[in-house]
Amino acid sequence: MSRIIDFHTHCFPEKIAAKALSNLSHCSGDAIPFHAGTADSLLEHALAGGAGGAVVLNIATNPRQQESVNHFAIDTNNRFPNLYAFGSIHPESPGALDELERIYAAGLKGVKLHPDYQHFFVDEDRMLPIYEKIASLGLITVFHAGVDIGYPDPVHCTPERLAHILPAFGSAPVVAAHMGGYLCWQDVLKFLVGKPLYFDTAFSFSRMPPDWAREIIRAHGANRVLLGSDMPWSDTGNEIRFVKSLGLSQEETDAILGGNACRLLQLQ
Ligand SMILES: [Zn+2]
Repeated sequence: MSRIIDFHTHCFPEKIAAKALSNLSHCSGDAIPFHAGTADSLLEHALAGGAGGAVVLNIATNPRQQESVNHFAIDTNNRFPNLYAFGSIHPESPGALDELERIYAAGLKGVKLHPDYQHFFVDEDRMLPIYEKIASLGLITVFHAGVDIGYPDPVHCTPERLAHILPAFGSAPVVAAHMGGYLCWQDVLKFLVGKPLYFDTAFSFSRMPPDWAREIIRAHGANRVLLGSDMPWSDTGNEIRFVKSLGLSQEETDAILGGNACRLLQLQ
């Protein structure tokens, strides 16, 4: 079987890691983090949990942050062979399209967009030039999807809205985090399963009924589901156990744990 890859993790620059962790934790009901916030700590815990590598998702929460967030992503990607850091652009930045070129040229494999933190609805017209640029570069896009515990209302990336804009990405891969839409799983079944996109399993262990996870995976196809933890907010080892507990075939389990990720990231 291929290497296990945790496709949904976060870490922060050393100088701000402690503060970022405590702020984010506080917004989410004082959640207890599973690593200390830095790239070193993330990698140590992901490996201890059973993964061989992890995708690090970064988010520019305002236009001014865009460049420094990508600087951190590029630096992390270059320093850690087992961490695949994604960049981020802010939709309100006038330089967003150029920044996508820089992300691509630096060798990053994708970007994360967080419609709740970045204040846009996923199917707004103003996003189309960004999606089309991503499509032309062939970057992977990970969307935060469904409810965010820290910013629950309104939901900016619902399964129905996301389904509308998938064609804009052409053949560039799209990933909807949290099994297609956290706490929106009936709508995931209604609007997203079977469509050309990936789901990640982030933040599912002990938070999503295993029956519902199985139903979505079976309807969508295990070849388009990616192991994710949401480290530091859930633990890589726990999420691996969750996937293994679902009673899928060995082939399906291996695809979710790492086969699909290795294909997407073009590893090996
Ligand atoms: Zn996350």
